[in-house]
Amino acid sequence: MKIRAIRLHWVRVPFHEPFRISGGEVSVKDAILVELETDRATGCGEASPMAGAFYSAETPESTWEFLRAKLVPAFLARPELDPEKCWERLAEFPGEPFAKAGLEGAVWDLRAQQLGMPLWQLLGGANRPIPSGAAIGLFPTVEELLERVERFLREGYRRIKIKIEPGRDVELVRAVRERFGDIPLMVDANASYGPEDSPAFEELDRFGLMMIEQPLAREALEEHAELQRRIKTPICLDESAESLEAIQTIIRLRSGRILNIKVQRLGGLTPARLVHDAARAAGLPCWLGTMPELGVASAQGLHLATLPNFIYPTDVEASSRWYPADIVTPPIEVTPGGLIRIPAGPGMGYRVDRAAIETHRFRFEQF
Ligand code: MG
Repeated sequence: MKIRAIRLHWVRVPFHEPFRISGGEVSVKDAILVELETDRATGCGEASPMAGAFYSAETPESTWEFLRAKLVPAFLARPELDPEKCWERLAEFPGEPFAKAGLEGAVWDLRAQQLGMPLWQLLGGANRPIPSGAAIGLFPTVEELLERVERFLREGYRRIKIKIEPGRDVELVRAVRERFGDIPLMVDANASYGPEDSPAFEELDRFGLMMIEQPLAREALEEHAELQRRIKTPICLDESAESLEAIQTIIRLRSGRILNIKVQRLGGLTPARLVHDAARAAGLPCWLGTMPELGVASAQGLHLATLPNFIYPTDVEASSRWYPADIVTPPIEVTPGGLIRIPAGPGMGYRVDRAAIETHRFRFEQF
């Protein structure tokens, strides 16, 4: 295969409503699509950092700059179209997981298309629908939260996750339990608590939650282990699950009992699959998380989520949940039974919507 071009499309797609976590909020989803055109097929990946530095050190600006100035020129100087070998090359650069995930995703998609097989098959997964759960941010009032929970349950989602922060936790969980009973429910603290807050978790422990996601700071792996010994609700690590080395420490210390695997944070499908395999060997069940992302990264994550140790529902939701219009066709849809069925076809199954990219494009560069 001969590479004809790499195109970077920085798109900005508005959210239906601002995306809020304990660290801040954003109203537009930024993503950089990496299009890798060869004489045989065109692969697409998505680098999907969140705007504002509250979620990660990387921003859309820094990811764009790293892709255009470093990663794409280095890739073109020494192209590697085998996705696993490509990732080994990319791993030589320190940091920048979002940029790497974008380029590596394009190489995976290209390879699957070239072989005429769905991406899940190339990744070693199974042809199965993925259960989807709804993630609900922080709202000014409990009533607004309950209204969202009701809507997502009606839409069929397989579990409800609500965000919590110090001072707004037990009250929210109690309100959801009182209104909706014994639904599959979990909370996500986004690392907003300290070890001194453990009474809140001992109280939350009484509500039969599926899991408590990332109560403490990213690097607080010993403290998570300590908290996990005190409560029976499984702790799920998200922000802490940032590299294969971190996962090995989590396993060794028993910092939690569940992992949230995010392709973007780990730097691509290859490292995410390595983490999945390490967790599986250690008996640590996983689920596939999102930040959220646009359709290309979401679709590739769904293919990965067909691997056997992705046990709990994914955070990937219907495209329409976040965006008036996504950048893939068909959009990602959730069945009334709360499942996402990946469309048949080589590669992602979903196609990139060129018109949507042009509508939302903010910057463009071709190499
Ligand atoms: Mg989380």
